[in-house]
Amino acid sequence: TPPRNSNAVRDIANVLHPYTDHRAHAVNGPLVISRGEGVRVFDDQGKEYIEAMAGLWCASLGFDNKRLVDAAYRQMQKLPFYHGFTAKSHEPMIDLAEMLIERAPVPMSKVFFANSGSEANDTAVKMIWYANNAMGRPDKKKIIGRLKGYHGITIASGSITGLPANHKMFDLPVSDRFIHVSTPHHYHGANPGESEEDFATRLAEELDQVIQREGPETVAAFFAEPAMGAGGVIVPPATYFEKVQAVLKKHDVLFVADEVICGFGRTGSYWGSQTFGITPDILVCAKALSASFLPISAVMVNDRVFQALADGSATIGTWGHGFTYSGHPVPAAVAVETLKIYDEMDIVGHAKRVGGHMQKTLRARFADHPLVGEIRGIGLVAAMELVADKATHRNFDPGAKVGPRLAKLAEGEGVIMRAMVNDSMGFSPPLIITEAEVDEMIARVGRALDALTVQLRRESIALV
Ligand code: PMP
Repeated sequence: TPPRNSNAVRDIANVLHPYTDHRAHAVNGPLVISRGEGVRVFDDQGKEYIEAMAGLWCASLGFDNKRLVDAAYRQMQKLPFYHGFTAKSHEPMIDLAEMLIERAPVPMSKVFFANSGSEANDTAVKMIWYANNAMGRPDKKKIIGRLKGYHGITIASGSITGLPANHKMFDLPVSDRFIHVSTPHHYHGANPGESEEDFATRLAEELDQVIQREGPETVAAFFAEPAMGAGGVIVPPATYFEKVQAVLKKHDVLFVADEVICGFGRTGSYWGSQTFGITPDILVCAKALSASFLPISAVMVNDRVFQALADGSATIGTWGHGFTYSGHPVPAAVAVETLKIYDEMDIVGHAKRVGGHMQKTLRARFADHPLVGEIRGIGLVAAMELVADKATHRNFDPGAKVGPRLAKLAEGEGVIMRAMVNDSMGFSPPLIITEAEVDEMIARVGRALDALTVQLRRESIALV
């Protein structure tokens, strides 16, 4: 069969995603993936790839898992749909909520379900605004995000997201209720000679000044991924969250941990919050919650937030929030099975062990490469940033699409990886990956990187 080079999807994907090698895309169209097996996927021509990004940081248990398929099938037969409105619930939703509360990194009180990370973050924003109305402080509504933080693409979650390309196109943030502070990226953000601790102190001071400038009585919450994902896998500098949380506490600003990528073992702890010593008031998760076999996300709130919501419904009236598919029984049943599998296989121990091997091997293999500026990451999430100048950390001109070209070459070698901001190449394989598969993935990427180096030399793109 000829490739399914369908124009129906090809042109829209080309326009919507900035980190694509448009030239290759225009010739070949999108890669059409037809089946999966473990950490691998196969295209419609039968070619095999290691999925170095688990899809979109998603398929934590890989691309085939009979138990999850069976869990969905059983639930489909028993109760294929029910909702959670008007004092209704169903068993998968209740079981999942209880399991999440049991596993939460800090005591959490209640869980609300949605279908995506964006919806969950929008929900968190509304909860915070409503809770502050209920607490008699309606001016405390401003939300602080961070440049390069990613929290979704709906109007509110997109306003917290700190990717300026997205902001420019849509005049986001949508109002002055959304503010951004600096990216905690030592490699690009630190002053010459500044230690991680000093950099963290400076960022915490900046946050404090922003809150003072806006007026603490107007600032409601701080949203953060424990380690940034889509912004290029940015692991915070030592002591960052400790110092940031001290500032938030001083001004009574809530901490929302966006664990959509970091949750469920990715950073080598069950939650990224545990890896980085975060005490969230609200925790948002999705993706690996159901191993991404079906869409579901969750917002967990602590008792203080819940009490404010409950008081509000008694004093200022209910707010009628809920999606048709909030806590849909089929994805909820899959998520319940997913969490059981994580426990049985000790996903955290596995991710920590194999993640340690991945971090070590990436550094050993690529750190000295002339194109590689920084390799960063923790557990089973990493990025390799390509630079034009190793000494000054200068990136390539984004128009040169150097990262997307490496992604395309890696595809040829049998690895699907992702180019993000500043040609940061992401590694976030399924959490079930073995050390041998990590080695194979890195060997294939190595061949792609060598090919890219030869190409750039030939094109006389200066490599310092
Ligand atoms: N938060 C984080 C940290 C994410 O990585 C993402 C998606 N990549 C989202 C939120 C948004 O999730 P969704 O795409 O499901 O809306």
